[in-house]
Amino acid sequence: MYYWEMPDHARTLGSRTLELIREYDALPTPPNYELWFSYAAGQNPELIRSVDDAVAEGKIQDLNHMRELYTRHFGGGTNVAMDEMGAKLQQEVQKFAHMLEDAGTDTASYGKTLNVAASQLSSGNVAQIKAVVEGMIAATRAMEAKHKALEHDLKSSANEVTALRSRIETIRQESLIDALTGLANRRCFDERMQQAVREAQTEGGDLCVLFADVDLFKKFNDTWGHATGDQVLRLVAQCLKANTKGRDTAARYGGEEFAVILPHTSIENAIKLAEQIRRAVESKKIVKRSTGETLGSITMSLGVAKFLPGEAISEVINRADQCLYAAKRAGRNRVMSEWTVDVGEAKSA
Ligand code: GH3
Ligand code: MG
Ligand code: MG
Repeated sequence: MYYWEMPDHARTLGSRTLELIREYDALPTPPNYELWFSYAAGQNPELIRSVDDAVAEGKIQDLNHMRELYTRHFGGGTNVAMDEMGAKLQQEVQKFAHMLEDAGTDTASYGKTLNVAASQLSSGNVAQIKAVVEGMIAATRAMEAKHKALEHDLKSSANEVTALRSRIETIRQESLIDALTGLANRRCFDERMQQAVREAQTEGGDLCVLFADVDLFKKFNDTWGHATGDQVLRLVAQCLKANTKGRDTAARYGGEEFAVILPHTSIENAIKLAEQIRRAVESKKIVKRSTGETLGSITMSLGVAKFLPGEAISEVINRADQCLYAAKRAGRNRVMSEWTVDVGEAKSA
């Protein structure tokens, strides 16, 4: 069902959605709105059950939980939008086809009129000729008017298609960006990693990957609240952005875990960069915006690994992850690489 086809129904559901949001004192964030809208529409029993469970467990205000529900049911939110765009485009193409079909029929009947007129012209008297010419003029004017209308319709259809195309491009871009931090999201990371591995294999050059995880973040959230936790994630993202450039991809890998793809980078330089990021995060003072209160600082642990030609992407990611957890075990707030940690059978960089 496409809601633009049923504006009244969409309006009713919209009001119901806002009522529900008020009733349950939920935050009206866009994902929450979409969840409650679907809930109000009543067509997805699994979604209804999840929301009812969240109500029963008192988790409606837990943004993290609600975000999880959203991702589970909408897969990042862009699929529905893309489906709708696809259906709209199809409608426009059908409209084009009909317009062209009509134009063809009109042109054929105009041709027939002219042919009949031509045969009448050769045999008729002056009065007949006058009538035939008048008929031709009328048919030509009618044809002209039809063409103008067709031109107008074609233009507005073309505009519609252009608008849809740019909307689709925006949605595609949005689907690769993490909404909270503005960094590349996990999907974008996976795509770029595949691209980087292809390039490393064809062009040569070292490819490194860095994994980073905020230290003791659960405690931070528990102490200062989730909203302040979210601010910290944005701060970490800023540190990553400020310390990466060019072909590097800094991504939010999930939750409070980040990753950076470093094409054409030696392991020594990747370790230096990781250390630079670690120091940048550690040096930031965290201040609660609402009160101006200083909350101290946070730290991150990082793991660095180098891609070995021929291996699967999951292998280098695993090694970076193992290095990261070795850094946690060694006391956090540090960088570990394959040079500094034993990772089983992995070859040294
Ligand atoms: P460690 O040093 O071992 O990594 O400890 P930790 O507390 O950081 O690790 P743990 O995996 O136990 O907890 C991760 C926490 O990160 C729990 C979760 O509440 C928080 N978190 C994950 N995603 C988000 C988010 O989007 N926003 C906020 N504020 N917190 C998040
Ligand atoms: Mg952590
Ligand atoms: Mg973690």
